[in-house]
Amino acid sequence: MSIVKLARPEIQALRAYEAAEQIDDTIRLNANESPRRCTVGGFRRPLNRYPEVRPQKLQRALAERFGCLPEQLLVTRGSSEAIDLVIRTFCRAGVDSVLVTSPSFSMYRHYAKVQGAKVVEVQTAAADDFAIDVDDILASCDASTRLIFVCSPNNPTGTTLPRDELERLLQMRGDASAIIVDEAYVEFGTHASVTELLARHDNLLVLRTLSKALGFAGARCGAIAGPAAVIQMLAAVQAPYALATPVVECVEDALQADQLEAASATVAEIVAERERLAGTLTKYPFVRKVWPSDANFLLVRLDDAYRVLTHCEVHKVLVRHFGGDLEDCIRISVGTPAENDRLLQALDALPEESHG
Ligand code: PMP
Repeated sequence: MSIVKLARPEIQALRAYEAAEQIDDTIRLNANESPRRCTVGGFRRPLNRYPEVRPQKLQRALAERFGCLPEQLLVTRGSSEAIDLVIRTFCRAGVDSVLVTSPSFSMYRHYAKVQGAKVVEVQTAAADDFAIDVDDILASCDASTRLIFVCSPNNPTGTTLPRDELERLLQMRGDASAIIVDEAYVEFGTHASVTELLARHDNLLVLRTLSKALGFAGARCGAIAGPAAVIQMLAAVQAPYALATPVVECVEDALQADQLEAASATVAEIVAERERLAGTLTKYPFVRKVWPSDANFLLVRLDDAYRVLTHCEVHKVLVRHFGGDLEDCIRISVGTPAENDRLLQALDALPEESHG
């Protein structure tokens, strides 16, 4: 059995777009491209030609980096695109539902709405440090639950779902739901990626991105890893030539050893700064709680979130506010040591009366 049968029937039957062949050392009169190479940009590949339908070298490189086989991975325009693809592939409008935990990344709900899928929300509690309760998730599932999104480490709480709990969820849902683990922030924690579970669980999909630890948010590149048959369906749904030539070359360069070394030094600095910030923030009398975080941000509960937000803005430091259940919280992304110092200086200057 496989979760392929959970996909929309028309997507199961869909064949990938048949692109014009691209063969080296041939005269290409088959794709209505311009025959003249333009001189813009200094790219290794000619920009007058379409890029590969799917960038194979990048697929192999990212599969190696993320710990799966190339056929188990689709390169996407950020992991955001992968969220959209998986929802469009699996959910029939008005019929199927997507389960999300709350608070979590808002894009799951956004793309579910775009597709007309129902959204079921499973609350996590501040009092439990936003721990995800797998029993709550299981109890909220019904026959329409196609997809379950688990963000781990979670944005904006920084919480990681323990491996044994994830495995229990994977086992209990079997081929009734696809479980999508969003690991956008996994490099900042101490837990290994769950891609190593792909060999044992064929209802698991894993989202990865180059936007966070690798520092290439501007390149718009991410990936989804999962069973090869599911990846084939997602590839058929994705626009052909989705990854532009400049992006492909930029990411190939980003994956070179020297760049990777620089990126892991930055991750180490961010983790150290996260701990420094967490320790310092708890000393302010107007800070009620700083949650432990496995990510590159901290969720902080305040006496008066609006007052702190406005004050930071005046000092030209932007932090994030969400409202709803997190009305009295802000999320602080960890910056460079100098940027974090600027934040702390701004907080030092918060007028006395709010220190009560
Ligand atoms: N997942 C999570 C949990 C995120 O926080 C983000 C970005 N904030 C994304 C996915 C999307 O990232 P990208 O599209 O840049 O890969």
